[in-house]
Amino acid sequence: MANFDGIVVGAGVAGSTTAALLARQGFRVLLVEKATFPREKICGEGLMPAGARILNELGILSELRAQGAQAFSGIHFHLPRNRCIELNFAEVSQTAQGWVVPRMVLDTRLARFAAQQPGVQLCEAFRVLSAQIGEGQVEVTGLYQGQLHTHRARLLIGADGIRSRFHNGFGIHRHKRRTRRFALSTSYDQLQGTGVVEVHCCEAGEAYVAPMGKRSARITLLLFGTAHRPR
Ligand SMILES: Cc1cc2nc3c(=O)[nH]c(=O)nc-3n(C[C@H](O)[C@H](O)[C@H](O)COP(=O)(O)OP(=O)(O)OC[C@H]3O[C@@H](n4cnc5c(N)ncnc54)[C@H](O)[C@@H]3O)c2cc1C
Repeated sequence: MANFDGIVVGAGVAGSTTAALLARQGFRVLLVEKATFPREKICGEGLMPAGARILNELGILSELRAQGAQAFSGIHFHLPRNRCIELNFAEVSQTAQGWVVPRMVLDTRLARFAAQQPGVQLCEAFRVLSAQIGEGQVEVTGLYQGQLHTHRARLLIGADGIRSRFHNGFGIHRHKRRTRRFALSTSYDQLQGTGVVEVHCCEAGEAYVAPMGKRSARITLLLFGTAHRPR
């Protein structure tokens, strides 16, 4: 017999939000995550207005704002040959706003929020190894504290990121990259902020500049290919 209605694998933004929303509908959910929070996740850290709207509905956005989340008003993509594509949220909706929130803060808060919902059981340091799909039931086996554990549910949600282990099994197209990617992220002070997230793109990679305050920004570099790794 299934001991949960649903098992969500991965407590990133997708998994934690899904678990919390399912619990609000009355479902009993097991949320498993191989890492323990707080954990690093490299990211440009720009939360788009649609995501901000969901966090607002969940009641988390005001808390993140109080902790220093910075508003931004659009994204400017700087492309080779001096081309620029400007997405200004106000052109779509007067109230739309993005927020720069460190992923370590956002993901930790979302996982804790999910765990606070009656009906959600969060299990960190649980690495899913396999899932069996049967008649009206799924069985998920994973490693927790050096031992194999199996849980059953009616519903399985694979929210385990871009390299999800579930894609192949269900015929979901898995994006195959020809080159490896390598990312770096750091914060800089003494910068003249523009109030928008800037994305600078070239053949070698992308650089994201996210305003963190009046004179500081989070800068994330995503480089394509291993040639950059030594530097
Ligand atoms: C350099 C870079 C910059 C980016 N900038 C932005 C940005 O500015 N704004 C934006 O919106 N997006 C950005 N993104 C994309 C964004 O990071 C992803 O879209 C987002 O993290 C996806 O969330 P997710 O919850 O689906 O997956 P993830 O955040 O990857 O979470 C998946 C979770 O599953 C867990 N997991 C994996 N395997 C298992 C397993 N076997 N068992 C248990 N748990 C498991 C992982 O530990 C992880 O916690 C950026 C990405 C990169 C690489």
